[in-house]
Amino acid sequence: GFRMGIVGLPNVGKSTLFNALTRTAAAQAANFPFCTIEPNVGEVAVPDARLDRLAEIAKSKQVIPTRMTFVDIAGLVKGASKGEGLGNQFLANIRETDAIAHVLRCFEDGDVTHVEGRVDPVADAETIETELMIADLESVERRMANLVRKLKGGDKEAVEQQRLLEAAKAALEAGRPARTVQVADEDRRAWRMLQLLTAKPVLYVCNVEEGSAATGNSQSAKVAEMAAAQGNAHVVISAKIEEEIAQLDPEEQEMFLEEMGLEEAGLDRLIRAGYELLNLQTYFTAGPKEARAWTIAKGTLAPQAAGVIHGDFEKGFIRAETIAFDDYVALGGESAAKEAGKMRAEGKGYEVKDGDVLHFLFNT
Ligand code: GDP
Repeated sequence: GFRMGIVGLPNVGKSTLFNALTRTAAAQAANFPFCTIEPNVGEVAVPDARLDRLAEIAKSKQVIPTRMTFVDIAGLVKGASKGEGLGNQFLANIRETDAIAHVLRCFEDGDVTHVEGRVDPVADAETIETELMIADLESVERRMANLVRKLKGGDKEAVEQQRLLEAAKAALEAGRPARTVQVADEDRRAWRMLQLLTAKPVLYVCNVEEGSAATGNSQSAKVAEMAAAQGNAHVVISAKIEEEIAQLDPEEQEMFLEEMGLEEAGLDRLIRAGYELLNLQTYFTAGPKEARAWTIAKGTLAPQAAGVIHGDFEKGFIRAETIAFDDYVALGGESAAKEAGKMRAEGKGYEVKDGDVLHFLFNT
């Protein structure tokens, strides 16, 4: 599955957000740094109104959303890259994620200590990015040192790695994160293998006070500007509100959101933004037994998409029968769509589209 790491300085609201996301009290929020020592891992349903629509039409007994994993990663402070505090474990935890949700404190609250003694989310973002860049630079240099012998032996793979490492090093030494390096398609695999922290896509999460959840505040506006300049995404949420919302039942939630002037829960926006960030899309399977959403990377071909359900589907893949979501809904279901000629048979080379309703045929 896909993993989002939640990072940020202490006391910015990471645990509060994680709790809200996973609706558990497992990650405890407390008003002092380092309270969450072990990374907390939680699975979150990806909200998708299309799935409910399909389930309604197909009269499915069960509705199973697709899921995304969030990891609450505590312990990043200034100097983390030097192994102070919880640095090293922390960096290892980030390495295992596909993308980073970087929580920035945009709320003022005299009762909640800020590690730097002031609220400045743009400076905080730089603090964290700098730590990650230092860690990356060290890892790049370590890898280069390990390559020396192979390079002398003329190892082709080593030459390629060296070239990518040099590109990363140049960017990092110029104070730019590794994600700013232009990587050719054929190098992508090798690039990912370098596991650079600052190569991961970033989503800034502006944690604003309750009253600014719908509008944002002057601090989140600065983050928005920074994010746009970097080409990164951002969302504005109030972790406190989300924590409250997460404890309500669905009807109460709707009333609460309306009162707050919010169209939907910030968490739903956050999860979807993460989905976008990871370049993911959804296809569906729908029948009387269950309607289910499945996550694939954009550009995934039909056999690999089938493989997400079961390895045998991929191995024995014959073809996929597909109906576009809009056709499925407009025509009122599978048989009607089929009669109208909207069900297509697609082969191994078919690139699955977002919203496809699929059946796979396969050899066992
Ligand atoms: P972490 O160290 O980043 O995981 O931060 P926590 O989630 O533990 O939050 C630290 C403190 O800030 C807790 O006392 C939270 O209740 C509080 N906090 C989190 N978000 C908000 C917010 O939006 N507004 C206010 N006033 N306090 C918040």
